Amino acid sequence: MLELDDLRIHFPLASGEVVKAVDGVTLKLAAGETVGLVGESGSGKSTIGKAALGLIPATSGAIRAGGEDVVGASAATLRRLRSRAQIIFQDPHASLNPRMTISRSVAEGLILNTPLRGRALRERVAELLARVGLPEQFLNRFPHELSGGQKQRACIARALALDPEVLVLDEPTSALDVSVQAQILTFLKELQAARPSMTSLFISHNLAVVRFLCQRVAVMYLGRIVEEGPVAEVFENPRHPYTRALLAAAP
Ligand code: ATP
Ligand code: MG
Repeated sequence: MLELDDLRIHFPLASGEVVKAVDGVTLKLAAGETVGLVGESGSGKSTIGKAALGLIPATSGAIRAGGEDVVGASAATLRRLRSRAQIIFQDPHASLNPRMTISRSVAEGLILNTPLRGRALRERVAELLARVGLPEQFLNRFPHELSGGQKQRACIARALALDPEVLVLDEPTSALDVSVQAQILTFLKELQAARPSMTSLFISHNLAVVRFLCQRVAVMYLGRIVEEGPVAEVFENPRHPYTRALLAAAP
């Protein structure tokens, strides 16, 4: 479950200007739902994704993720949330430590939150990496020794290690070539079937991908949601001019 209620995130700039990146967003994702978040560059999508997990503070409003109140949460609550809610960024370097092997990066959450150690831990990590298509020879490599697509798969394995209740995906495949993109999207589709209670917010510029993976879609424009509904409904009968323009521009 993920709920945003009248969320505002304003960034004061050094110049004295205030950027209203998110300006009154209400969005409710039921357990097991995958909702797409689309909108032009700078409309506030990533800001919402990061705030949903408590990575940046909200200016006002409420966020509930994985059963926790995120706004104003204590450090202990945020730690609990980190074991139940995960984010995959467009840039895999945002999640992978360059000085850690891939297996160590994937194991980190398991070491902090579970009693798994030694051989059982190594086996679990190998299994997670195998599921995203990274065989054993990658386990002891460092991020710079992997391709972009391989790094992104490692990030997915890392995010899934603790079986999260909430998963935010911020353009996870936009930097990848179409064949790797297709493999990862197919994997995410299979994941939905394998983990029917996982709630996902899927941020993307790609409407075809949103159609493929999401049940509902919310369209952002200048920090607000201007249109929201079942994917087929919004894409076949867009009401807001921005949604119409977005659909007209899609290949
Ligand atoms: P894109 O599709 O390009 O990734 P986005 O919808 O994810 O765009 P955000 O990254 O959420 O957009 O940014 C929303 C707005 O907030 C932008 O105008 C951006 O410049 C601004 N912004 C984001 N982070 C900060 C920050 N830390 N300080 C000031 N302004 C910020
Ligand atoms: Mg973004």
